[in-house]
Amino acid sequence: MLELATPVKYVKGVGPRIADVLAAKGIHTVGDLLYYLPFRYEDRLNPRGIAELRPGEMATVIGEVRNSGLFRTRRMPIFQLTVGQGRTRLRCLWFNATYLQDKFKPGQMIALYGKVEEDQRSRELQIMQPQFEILGEASDGGDNGAEKKAAESLEIGRIVPIYESIGQGRLTPRWFRRAIRTALDNLTPELPEPIPAAVRAHLGLISQRAALWNVHWPEPGESFQDLQSSRTPAHIRLIFDELFFVELGLELKRRQLKAQTGIAFSLDDRVRAAIKKILPFHPTAAQKRVLKEIAADMEKPYPMRRLLQGDVGSGKTIVGFEAAIIAIENGCQVALMAPTEILAQQHYFSARRILENAGYRIVLLTGSLEADRKREIRRHIAQGNAQLVIGTHALLEEKVEFSKLGLVIVDEQHRFGVMQRLKLMKKSGESSDDARGGTGALARPAEQSSAPVPPAEPDVLVMTATPIPRTLALTLYGDLDLSVLDELPPGRTPIVTRCGSDDESPKVWEFVRKQVAAGHQAYVVYPVIAENEESELKAAIKMYRELSAVVFPDLKVGLLHGRLDAELKDQVMRMFQKGELQILVATTVIEVGVDVPNATVMVIEHAERFGLAQLHQLRGRIGRGAAKSYCILMTGGKVSEEGQRRLDAMVKTNDGFQIAELDLELRGPGEFFGTRQAGMPSFRVANIIRDAQLLEAAKREAAAVLAGPNAEISAEEISRALVHMRTLWQHTYGLVEVG
Ligand code: ADP
Ligand code: MG
Repeated sequence: MLELATPVKYVKGVGPRIADVLAAKGIHTVGDLLYYLPFRYEDRLNPRGIAELRPGEMATVIGEVRNSGLFRTRRMPIFQLTVGQGRTRLRCLWFNATYLQDKFKPGQMIALYGKVEEDQRSRELQIMQPQFEILGEASDGGDNGAEKKAAESLEIGRIVPIYESIGQGRLTPRWFRRAIRTALDNLTPELPEPIPAAVRAHLGLISQRAALWNVHWPEPGESFQDLQSSRTPAHIRLIFDELFFVELGLELKRRQLKAQTGIAFSLDDRVRAAIKKILPFHPTAAQKRVLKEIAADMEKPYPMRRLLQGDVGSGKTIVGFEAAIIAIENGCQVALMAPTEILAQQHYFSARRILENAGYRIVLLTGSLEADRKREIRRHIAQGNAQLVIGTHALLEEKVEFSKLGLVIVDEQHRFGVMQRLKLMKKSGESSDDARGGTGALARPAEQSSAPVPPAEPDVLVMTATPIPRTLALTLYGDLDLSVLDELPPGRTPIVTRCGSDDESPKVWEFVRKQVAAGHQAYVVYPVIAENEESELKAAIKMYRELSAVVFPDLKVGLLHGRLDAELKDQVMRMFQKGELQILVATTVIEVGVDVPNATVMVIEHAERFGLAQLHQLRGRIGRGAAKSYCILMTGGKVSEEGQRRLDAMVKTNDGFQIAELDLELRGPGEFFGTRQAGMPSFRVANIIRDAQLLEAAKREAAAVLAGPNAEISAEEISRALVHMRTLWQHTYGLVEVG
């Protein structure tokens, strides 16, 4: 008998070699195999008769191979196959498919899936490049006739699941059908039911066992449309499972936090007056509201964990500074972390401009400082002299000890990634042993942590400009409270965005020149994306030479990219900030946070190569002052259809939330959270866009379960759910442990 936790190699037909291929796809156990769901289904119970096919429809056709062959046209070899049902025939064509030459034999039964088209000239129906499966091939069914028959019954006369092949086509849909069927046939009858009965009842969920069977082998009466859209009771049960245990973990983290000792900052008139004093402008209504939310958290006796979301330019920095003042006025230190040195530098300068007059002591600690200087700054921090410590994540890595850390602010969180965020919160004290023991980077000095009372956890405020749709924020950051800055400071004129192709450059440079003549500044951005870094960087540098020597010889042009040493970067950025440079040629190092309100033009070269979120972040560097700003998206060469949709979206809207929704739609959640958001639990069956409603339900039910036993839910059920959740978090999502 197989358990869900049994290693997959014990499934008959899975040897060590195949187990390796499966492992590469994250399939280690029988459970993993059973959660490998079909990505679509074929209706081979009622396959279409060739005679009823209509042009334009997607169809599954089962027929007999009549003849096949390769013919060469001037442009490419084309493989043609004719299948028949009685007297009717259907032609299928594959381009460049010499590999199909010896694949088919007349008389074989074959299932085809693809889009039906009408041949322009002959008016005959055909399917181009269909997916296919040979149904009756003696070598595949084993030597034994009965086995062959059983195998065939998995392929025809039913709704058949189609799985994504893996291992360069070694494990085909047919392979999965058989392996999964074998696993189901041998599955222990006692599957644990980790979801409490009351929760199952609320949602009308079917049992796990029934769900696993039906999702792979749908009952004949199942709605085909529900299957294709993952809306059958079986799908819903499995999707809910997955969402429920992620939400349960997040909810638990949240509760644990509320149980910890934090610092109850006081927000009296003196503190209010201190905040008022530094404000260089009237805060927007949104800024006021958000500060109120943050301040309310800070006053509470447990640690704050709040996410501040606001589109680029919405004015997050000042809100961060206000929170910092609350902590400092209460005698605590504040750490402000930025993802890049440039941004840390910039925060340092604005902090000095805004806060130093009020007498606050601010230091900048970044990786590129000389060792001596670093040591000195660290001493200031340890002695409590430095009140606001600004830095990059070097703050995490260096041996920084605070005398009394009260608040950690993480800016532009999306650049850190979820894993880093979790690590960072841990370092900043969240209930983990290493922070308690004083070895964590942001841990308090040893004599405090050996005190009998557990030390108070600092508050954490995370700021991000990646405007993710609310339901997603709830999953991704379910352990955080959410504040949204949904208003831009007054006096901004919307940025005008235009697309142009390379051959329009002269016109574009003329436009840049006019803007500069009017006293403004401009960015020219080149893509340097990690994979091609060397050659792309060369192109950026070359273009800098051309722009500075040939196109704008009379203007002051600067160059900024990630490979420059820190001092030079700093110098260039400062010159641009002061207006000593009129044009800044840069790579995406300027993507986040940089704030030069006098810059009104951004030309982005090869805009088609950037992701939508990235384009939006880049564009956020302009439109920061009162003057009208222009973003010009230049494309070189051919733009893919998806690339064009990204550019169109940029032209159409300035709204970060709309752009995020579209980005998500274009890329799908996997990619959206891919590299940037490494550490996001990659769901196996759930899709947080499609399943947003189930997600809300999962969140609600998780909270109810953690509220404790009651007439509906027993203590034993709760503890079973928690044990299951922990195993999942550790083994499947690879997320840090939840207590
Ligand atoms: P982001 O949210 O992208 O970090 P910043 O904090 O850099 O935005 O603010 C963008 C610009 O708007 C800065 O120049 C800042 O000084 C200015 N700003 C912020 N809030 C206001 C306000 N209430 N009124 C006027 N200008 C503001
Ligand atoms: Mg910012």
